Amino acid sequence: MQDRRNFLKAAALGAAAFSLDGIKPAQAAGRVTKGKPIVISTWDFGLPSNKAAWEVLRRGGRALDAVEAGVRIPEGDPDIQTVGLGGLPDRDGHVTLDACIMDELGNCGAVTALEHIVHAISVARAVMEKTPHVMLTGEGALQFALANGFKKENLLTPASEKAWKEWLKKSEYKPIMNIENKTYNGNGATAFNPLQLPGNVYNHDTIGMVAMDAQGNLSGACTTSGMAYKLRGRVGDSPIIGAGLYVDNEVGAATSTGVGEEVIRIVGSHLVVELMRQGYTPEAACKEAVARIVKKSPQKAKEIQVGFLALNKKGEYGAYCLQEGFSYAVCDSDTHNELIAGKHYF
Ligand code: ASP
Repeated sequence: MQDRRNFLKAAALGAAAFSLDGIKPAQAAGRVTKGKPIVISTWDFGLPSNKAAWEVLRRGGRALDAVEAGVRIPEGDPDIQTVGLGGLPDRDGHVTLDACIMDELGNCGAVTALEHIVHAISVARAVMEKTPHVMLTGEGALQFALANGFKKENLLTPASEKAWKEWLKKSEYKPIMNIENKTYNGNGATAFNPLQLPGNVYNHDTIGMVAMDAQGNLSGACTTSGMAYKLRGRVGDSPIIGAGLYVDNEVGAATSTGVGEEVIRIVGSHLVVELMRQGYTPEAACKEAVARIVKKSPQKAKEIQVGFLALNKKGEYGAYCLQEGFSYAVCDSDTHNELIAGKHYF
């Protein structure tokens, strides 16, 4: 176990310890290729996120570094109101972030209800690498982040504050189904600008990303500001290992998005990986997980969105969701980064 002195020493190393891609090209060149690198991630913002992840993978870097680099893109984008900076707040006006990360060895780290830090995923990685714990929450997570060199920032952008104040007029909590679905423009779409979507009423969307590197190793990352206008202290599926993300290097990796309460109930991402272990294809495994949600909550399932995304050890991938409109991005070469419409149950 790390004692306090070591902990502070690690803290003093600060940002230097958070290199996103420690692999130098020379090292990468010496690697034995065991797998074909691939990265997949949720929603339209998966495209720019995959691009950042691919930069790591194409140089022979580790899947863990790739997924961290990838999900930092929407985390740092103030115009994406469902992840990181600029995320829609809880009902009391606090932007609270949930994130988790998992590597090929089964190491994992998570933060829940983290405030004031843009890159929750990197804090989750620091929890994984620098503490004997898996999950830190709220004040403790913030204290840990600050001690490790992360900068305290205001995450509530004017646009998200305005949306929250508008919401306060009725204060009605209702996970609106994502209407960006309706404007989805097909496979190969490259445009991404959620704020141009009509009505701009979407109020959730997490980035979940899983990747395989040239070594054939799998890792995953998941980060979100959670459901908009949630109760203070509410934590969804995204930072919960097994629910929002799961990686088993022998079998595959899976992640989820949508109404987290329903995903937690079936321990969704772990379920998807275990189904793949039994021989299900990634898509069939995701479909079965979606069907379990429908079975458990038949009425509610019609009104909400949940989507699963999975990758197996062979590099095969697939997804399934409740409602039309879930998109995911797949990147496996310098020239192929594609947006695909997830098949849907209803
Ligand atoms: N799963 C996230 C949560 O429940 C939200 C989302 O992915 O849309 O917090």
